[in-house]
Amino acid sequence: MRFTSFNPPVRTLMGPGPSDVHPRVTSAMARPTIGHLDPAFVSMMDEVKAMLQYAFQTKNELTIPVSAPGSAGMETCFVNLIEAGDKVIVCQNGVFGGRMKENVERAGAIAVMVEDDWGKPVDPDKLEDALKANPDAKIVAFVHAETSTGAQSDAKTLCALARKYDCLSIVDAVTSLGGTELRVDDWGIDAIYSGTQKCLSCTPGLSPVSFSERALEAIKNRKQKVQSWFLDTNLVMGYWGGSSKRAYHHTAPVNSLYALHESLVMLQNEGLENAWQRHADNHLALRAGIEAMGLSFIVDEPYRLPQLNSVTIPEGVDEAAVRSTLLNRFNLEIGAGLGSLAGKVWRIGLMGQSSRAENILLCLGALDVVLSDMGADINSGVALQTAQKLMK
Ligand SMILES: *Cc1c(COP(=O)(O)O)cnc(C)c1O
Repeated sequence: MRFTSFNPPVRTLMGPGPSDVHPRVTSAMARPTIGHLDPAFVSMMDEVKAMLQYAFQTKNELTIPVSAPGSAGMETCFVNLIEAGDKVIVCQNGVFGGRMKENVERAGAIAVMVEDDWGKPVDPDKLEDALKANPDAKIVAFVHAETSTGAQSDAKTLCALARKYDCLSIVDAVTSLGGTELRVDDWGIDAIYSGTQKCLSCTPGLSPVSFSERALEAIKNRKQKVQSWFLDTNLVMGYWGGSSKRAYHHTAPVNSLYALHESLVMLQNEGLENAWQRHADNHLALRAGIEAMGLSFIVDEPYRLPQLNSVTIPEGVDEAAVRSTLLNRFNLEIGAGLGSLAGKVWRIGLMGQSSRAENILLCLGALDVVLSDMGADINSGVALQTAQKLMK
């Protein structure tokens, strides 16, 4: 067998991630590879750290991209803060809270679960009850933006509760960073992780994380070594840390970091608050079109994520056939339902570069065509005009 170069099709990405990547970011990635200890590279790393502090709205010194996807950022937060036998309160309202539980248990700790229905935000009253019932808990963990359902939880309130009961907080911001309001310092978040391929619209494979002073203090006072050598922040910071000489820990993904640098420059140029507003505005345009078509959203308005829209599937429609037709005929990817929502919803992402007027028009137009062809019970021919009225 003779192999030839792989040339991927050009798609429009409107699923739960990865999102569309701007050509500025992909071309940054193609710049020459240099050494990961080259002084020119080290000064670029410092810029990445500073721009991540801006994106997270934090002054935390330990604010770096972990050299692996969002799941590794999740694991970094858990393994550095948890010691065997600790008690951790995990709020679950979708798939990713379940992964947090796995992380806690694999680190030899005890997970106390606070559960809410899928599609609902985490209920602060239930968290407070659990904190009262478990005065020995050390950590509270929750997902800010549940990508599996499209629900947003009130991170500010949940972190304030964690503090009130003397717990550290671990926050999953994989889908919220760059897409909706997030203020690490103002909200008192102790450990947070994100991903590059959602609202930052960078290529997949890196996970920005940030740890507060309180979290660093807890790490310093550990009795046991961090069980993961690769993710141990004490060791990673030998490479990413301060102004002193950088030591080899692992070979940084040099070109991926060029891409992240470029996407953060673009975020800074747009302005963080403008990016949040763009996500909010584009959600309203998509919503208008979706509702005009006769479809609806499963998450109640106040908790709905603008960047991840869980939309109901019309009666009798083969949802997988719709997605494959969208992909084959229109090069458009939308997401399937996950976990208990599998087969019940489509997940339409408006993340980062995907949160644009032309994507919304393509998605609404293509859905209208495909659903009409299948004889689905929708209001055909009205979605585009309705959405267009809300576009700036
Ligand atoms: C995508 C996602 C993750 C996992 O990120 P990967 O980069 O796929 O490892 C974790 N949490 C949430 C909320 C996500 O949306």
